[in-house]
Amino acid sequence: MATKKQAVGHEYSFFQSVERSFDKAAPFTKYEKGLLEQIKACNSVYQMRFPVKIKGEVKVIEAYRVQHSHHKLPCKGGIRYSLGVNQDEVMALASLMTYKCATVNVPFGGGKGGIKIDPKQYTEEELERITRRYAAELIKKNFIGPGTDVPAPDYGSGEREMGWILDTYTSMRPGEIDAAGCITGKPIAQGGVRGRKEATGLGVFYGVREMCSNADDMKKLGMNTGIEGKRVAVQGLGNVGYHAAYFFQQNGAIIVGLSEMEGSIFNPKGLDVDAVMKCKKETGSILNYKGATKTTKKASDVLECDCDVLIPAALENVIDGANAPKIKAKIIGEAANGPLTPEADEILIKKGVVVIPDMYLNAGGVTVSYFEWLKNLSHVRYGRMEKRFQENAHTNMLSAVESLTGKSVSAADRSRIAHGPDEVDLVYSGLEDTMIVSYNEIREIKKSMKKINDLRTAAFVNAINKIGDSYLQLGIFP
Ligand code: NAD
Repeated sequence: MATKKQAVGHEYSFFQSVERSFDKAAPFTKYEKGLLEQIKACNSVYQMRFPVKIKGEVKVIEAYRVQHSHHKLPCKGGIRYSLGVNQDEVMALASLMTYKCATVNVPFGGGKGGIKIDPKQYTEEELERITRRYAAELIKKNFIGPGTDVPAPDYGSGEREMGWILDTYTSMRPGEIDAAGCITGKPIAQGGVRGRKEATGLGVFYGVREMCSNADDMKKLGMNTGIEGKRVAVQGLGNVGYHAAYFFQQNGAIIVGLSEMEGSIFNPKGLDVDAVMKCKKETGSILNYKGATKTTKKASDVLECDCDVLIPAALENVIDGANAPKIKAKIIGEAANGPLTPEADEILIKKGVVVIPDMYLNAGGVTVSYFEWLKNLSHVRYGRMEKRFQENAHTNMLSAVESLTGKSVSAADRSRIAHGPDEVDLVYSGLEDTMIVSYNEIREIKKSMKKINDLRTAAFVNAINKIGDSYLQLGIFP
């Protein structure tokens, strides 16, 4: 595990940062020390090394799977593909998953995986070999399965990798009826759920929108309620960052800054998110985008730009004691896991910036993964049973209203009102409700406990209370 000194120039390692946030919240809960220690501890850590033949040579790959908490099963959490992967990072991310699941009432323990590679250095075939071998290692040690541990995508991985893992699992465990539930974030054709790909970014949008809808909270920040016209900057245009930026723009926000590894682009009048993505795809860099008024070669410049809402959506520790004083945004939405160091957190609280914490804000992914897992266990697509029934019921109701009033409903209104839910409608609606309800649970705790002055501490209190109560039911703790 990383020591303080190993923690890439920051005072605390990532896992220590999460523990620090936990310790700050623990005094506001009712549990004795032993139970709190049990909640905090990582229950199982599997560190592995396996050989894979790459371009004729054997390469030894370092990888991890951590199950932070078994208080509820299965464990749940993504698999990161990055050269930055180490045991401390995977433990931190697994522990965040435990608190995240509790925050959004998803009945799982936290888990996380990591493969220490730069996926861009490998061909698709090599990546497949590495992924399948990693999956085989998990299967051998019972670190994957619909009832034990269910991975998902994270930084550097996506649908394609999840598909390979499922295929490896089903070939090594033939005949297992619920096998599709061993992994989420899969392609639809392999049992994935519609809406999972965009779920984390969409959840980020719903969460920030909920915060911005509270007139009292927005007045304290000197801002209007609502998303319309808010100036938003996003760091990292991967799965989470792109979708968050897209939904903000679709709902009337102005995207004033975007960044990728190669640098940042700005335009106070707004950047067109899809045009920027197209440019990146065609030319290999967002810096070639013609609609920017300013372009710099520093990826971190976007963090300090003039905006209302800042969305770090790349990696951890990007805002620290050095750049936190320069942040101009009044709201920071933590789309990435752990983008703020503890020092940055303290500085921003003192500055009056509202930080919407990762363990709540990026929980859209695990929420919809939960929906996907339920779909896999029930073996039926959402909406399949009720869509036609509801459409008929709505149509009958409209006809009754028309005959009672003597007025007819327009064709456009008829198709809007009569529409029965498709899978994606139900997934979006379940996600929206989850993000609204969970935000208000956290906000209420912050409001009712006068000594808590930030949403992160309130979110930890909320999560610890839920996890603590489920441990109490075991009867071990006094
Ligand atoms: P991704 O691999 O799809 O995208 C990450 C993007 O960030 C890449 O395009 C990369 O080039 C860019 N990037 C990396 N370093 C950067 C930097 N310094 N400045 C600007 N851009 C940079 O990963 P993702 O799935 O979008 O994950 C991003 C973050 O969100 C991670 O912290 C991850 O743990 C978290 N997260 C992801 C999910 C999910 O469903 N994928 C769910 C919850 C949390």
